[in-house]
Amino acid sequence: MIKLPGLIDPHVHFREPGQTHKEDWDTGTSAALAGGFTMVLAMPNTKPPIFDADTLEMALKAAKQKARCDYAQFLGAGPDNADIVPSLAYKAAGLKMYLDSTFGELRLNDMTLWMPHFEKYPKQYPIVAHSESRSMAAAILFAAIYDRPIHIAHVSLKEEILLIKAAKEKGIKVTCEVTPHHLFLPSPNPPPNSQNLGEDKGGGWGRSEVRPRLATQADVEALWQNMDVIDCFATDHAPHTLEEKDSENPPPGFPGLETALPLLLTAVHDGRLRIEDIIAKMYTNPRKIFSLPEQPETWIEVDENAEYEIKAADQFTRCGWTPFEGWKVKGRVTRVVLRGRDAFKDGKVLAEQGFGKNVRG
Ligand SMILES: [Zn+2]
Repeated sequence: MIKLPGLIDPHVHFREPGQTHKEDWDTGTSAALAGGFTMVLAMPNTKPPIFDADTLEMALKAAKQKARCDYAQFLGAGPDNADIVPSLAYKAAGLKMYLDSTFGELRLNDMTLWMPHFEKYPKQYPIVAHSESRSMAAAILFAAIYDRPIHIAHVSLKEEILLIKAAKEKGIKVTCEVTPHHLFLPSPNPPPNSQNLGEDKGGGWGRSEVRPRLATQADVEALWQNMDVIDCFATDHAPHTLEEKDSENPPPGFPGLETALPLLLTAVHDGRLRIEDIIAKMYTNPRKIFSLPEQPETWIEVDENAEYEIKAADQFTRCGWTPFEGWKVKGRVTRVVLRGRDAFKDGKVLAEQGFGKNVRG
């Protein structure tokens, strides 16, 4: 048995408010506990998105009633809310900026819309950027110009991890996270969105849709080779139902809370990762980067020798599938103690709805 600190996932999508057929604060935090996470930071691209006092209140009310593990909620940077969000910063996990993808109302079309957010959001609270490739370079330049920290979400490409390494060496305050799916799943061949997209109706390419897209084997290898540049592992848990994933317009995103630790422990077993990396990137660094409080009397227990196959049927997430179905892993979460109480034990979630606390409360 290995004892680890309660893990922190700085990047989850719980779909509440608005799309609770995919997930909600109840099932999402159940999945978190089953995966060994005692604290999660929820992203703001819900329906409606979380971008002002009323919508933040809406999300926090649902979380307060339903969450089984501790949490905080991100605010979204929109085109019109740079003057409003700084006054809410103390209640939020941080500010999430979607810099190069369309995410409904949180779209920031051009860099003049980035400027007031970088200028005004309080420096002691984190800004997290969804920014791929060259917009990531632009986001890092903004961090340098405005002399404030920036956290880059879900780095997936060799060019990205190498640029972050170079920026860190220059003293720019940039940190980053990588998802397990970008570490373990190279792009299928042929890749999604190719002309072959329609051919595999049995659940192939639609299910592999995710943003950032799954990258090449060379990109995956670059992430492993630059493990010391990666500050956090974050799941980007983004559940959609199988019906949606297998539809004509598959939405991007994978569930990930219940598979992250078993996959990473298997990498430790295989000698590709150290247990110290897991503690640093899933506890110490996220706590520091996001200024998160200590959770007293909180730890998890793992049977490092338990070998089994990942099965969606065993999971607590509402979405009912996993891209890692059938993968053989070694390492199982057997017990989660949160603030002195058994929150998960031997496959059962024991913390009731409402036990979770807002760590920015
Ligand atoms: Zn995300």
